[in-house]
Amino acid sequence: MKNVIFIAPPAAGKGTQSTKLESLGYVHVSTGDMLREEIAKKTELGLLVDSIISKGNFVSDEIVFELITNKLSSINKPFILDGFPRTIKQAEMLEDLLRKLNSTDYEVIYLDLSCDEAIKRALGRLTCTKCGASYNKYYEALQPIQEGICDKCGHVLETRSDDNEESFKIRFDNYLTNTEPIKDFYDKKGKLHVIDATQDSNDITKQIKNICID
Ligand code: AMP
Repeated sequence: MKNVIFIAPPAAGKGTQSTKLESLGYVHVSTGDMLREEIAKKTELGLLVDSIISKGNFVSDEIVFELITNKLSSINKPFILDGFPRTIKQAEMLEDLLRKLNSTDYEVIYLDLSCDEAIKRALGRLTCTKCGASYNKYYEALQPIQEGICDKCGHVLETRSDDNEESFKIRFDNYLTNTEPIKDFYDKKGKLHVIDATQDSNDITKQIKNICID
């Protein structure tokens, strides 16, 4: 099993695919989830990053790199990186870290989605803050069975503070300026695999499995 690095615009389905791959033995490492946990616990770091995240801006490379370093150093299983790297600098820092940890066996999955589709997904997104499951009120197949309640764990579903139109536009612009150039970085290394994110979610999982597991 190869490690998986996801690169994608916001709301392209990184979290959903990560949850599906977790059941195959991967550890899901999401910088967004780690930062939201710090905010929920009201730690010093949480208080520092709360307003940055809710406005749709990036947290500094140094802060997220410290979170990633601590996490990857503590696990001994194949992992999925969801939300890191997001800048060329982070991609370079990650290369050094993976070399030190002898974890350079990875593939990069780029989930391709247009801005219009991403906005529709983000504005309808409902997330379970307990188990991380994701739903969408605008897509019938993605609605929870009982309105506002997680099918998997029964917890109340919430809208993320950064899933509003204003923050989303900033996030998408940040993505185009800072994150999309990473595609080239990994393409040159022969690690990049582009997958159309509008396909059925199970078909996307199958393609990722073909690339990273089979
Ligand atoms: P996500 O859940 O991946 O959409 O991340 C939510 C928010 O957390 C992002 O919009 C950023 O504000 C912040 N964040 C997550 N990962 C990173 C990262 N690698 N670099 C900078 N900011 C990040």
